[in-house]
Amino acid sequence: MTTYSGKGVYGAIATGKISVFKRQDIKVKREKIEDVAAEIERLEAAKAEADSQLEEIYEKALKEVGETNAQIFEIHRMMMEDDDYNEAIVEMIQGQGVNAEYAVAVTADNFAEMFASMDDSYMQARAADVRDISNRIIACLTNCAEEGADTEGKRIICADDLAPSETVSLDKEKVLAFVTAHGSSNSHTAILARNMNIPAIIGVGEDFLDQIRDGDMAIADGFTGEFIVNPEEETLAEYEKKQEEEAEKKELLQKLKGKENITLDGTKINVYANIGSADNIGAVLLNDAGGIGLFRSEFLYLEKADYPTEEEQLVVYKKVLESMATKKVIIRTLDIGADKQVDYFQLDKEENPALGLRAIRLCLSRPEVFKTQLRALYRASVYGNLGIMFPMIVSVSELEEILALCEQVKRELDSDGIQYSKEIELGIMIETPASAIISDKLAPMVDFFSVGTNDLTQYTLACDRQNPKVERFCDTHHEAILRLIEMAAKNAHDHGAWIGICGELAADTTLTETFLRMGIDELSVSPSFVLKVRDTVRKVDLSQL
Ligand code: PEP
Ligand code: MG
Repeated sequence: MTTYSGKGVYGAIATGKISVFKRQDIKVKREKIEDVAAEIERLEAAKAEADSQLEEIYEKALKEVGETNAQIFEIHRMMMEDDDYNEAIVEMIQGQGVNAEYAVAVTADNFAEMFASMDDSYMQARAADVRDISNRIIACLTNCAEEGADTEGKRIICADDLAPSETVSLDKEKVLAFVTAHGSSNSHTAILARNMNIPAIIGVGEDFLDQIRDGDMAIADGFTGEFIVNPEEETLAEYEKKQEEEAEKKELLQKLKGKENITLDGTKINVYANIGSADNIGAVLLNDAGGIGLFRSEFLYLEKADYPTEEEQLVVYKKVLESMATKKVIIRTLDIGADKQVDYFQLDKEENPALGLRAIRLCLSRPEVFKTQLRALYRASVYGNLGIMFPMIVSVSELEEILALCEQVKRELDSDGIQYSKEIELGIMIETPASAIISDKLAPMVDFFSVGTNDLTQYTLACDRQNPKVERFCDTHHEAILRLIEMAAKNAHDHGAWIGICGELAADTTLTETFLRMGIDELSVSPSFVLKVRDTVRKVDLSQL
């Protein structure tokens, strides 16, 4: 029995046989060519073939993981058309008179290295994407088909890393889990695994592929990140029991659908869901969330190659509001910058992006971009029960500026004769220590607060949330954070505002009672945690000291 440790990116347990993912090992040789024009023609034909393969994969992904996640393959198609990438390949064929396979392989290495050396983990993860498209072009040039994994029966797929297109191309019905030697939790492969509800572990280390064999029995624990190969009978039995318990827990939680989020002594709260796209509405409804407490609208911008227009945004917001009928939908305005970079914003490189021009600061620096979003939101408000929330607030003056812009947008809509709801609730995120400390001043200006514990933790404890090396210094239960939340809760209530939590800590059920005692009115969590939080709330008795 050997145990490997990695990082679990989707919490679930799988036991079964291993299938080592085999990639056609294409050996690219450097060859001299005579006819440069013919070689470039050959390259173009291979790219056209690769493009139509990607179109097919996109269609498959669309059905299996929804539009937002399928977008990566549209992005791959765009990356394949990138001028810098193509010029580098063509220049190499022309300048050095080499074959197209070689020019693509060298360019892929250069671009992948460039991405990998960037500070931003999102950009680092793009190295895998450029390799993925380049391998596809080379395979088309050499007429090699990708082999994939031997997935006879359901298997745990083990690979050095999996490209997004490889992940989606695998038959979901035959995959028990993904385990990879490398990879980052920000990679699209990890995101796809999460969305496919498949247990996944990344980063178990270089060596494991040399030490495992097709058909070996293994356990993948997506909760702890442990991957156990050839487990002993006892361990296997232990995990099978754990799996049964997990399944029972899930089954039991289903019984809570339609029930209230009420404590034993009768205190009711709202349990809402966090989403990043209209595609997630199915999961929200399936898990019986009472509303949407955080719609991260920036994903709409991240998916596009250019600023989404007012009309494009309206379509998405309308869809979410209509799907939720009368239930509350809180849409957070654009929170771009730091780890979420969008090329067309052409943001300057910053020394400390998490402390830089991000979120509301960017919106207030580019009022036209902000106003386009606000107009779309106000216009969408007639289709449901909308709340608008602003991220990264630190001062009264910036909130005044935001509220003045909202008034301006309303006046413009009035003069255009466009309807909007008069019932929209406006709120701010409490995700900086400053906003919690001056929450007595901010509360009278808004209808609600929503605590973003992910950033509140990062800024309070001075721990970069993107940096795994400081994870152990980042105690999310730190007294300073809990005190700031308590302070914000008291100030909200003293001034007639309500307060929720939408950061990851909202789903930490060891803190549910603490939050309820602080008077938190709403917890907004990933859809799959809604029933677990409801279950915990229903077991709390606030009358007991
Ligand atoms: C947070 O900071 O807790 C939050 C909910 O926002 P995000 O994770 O999108 O920064
Ligand atoms: Mg945040």
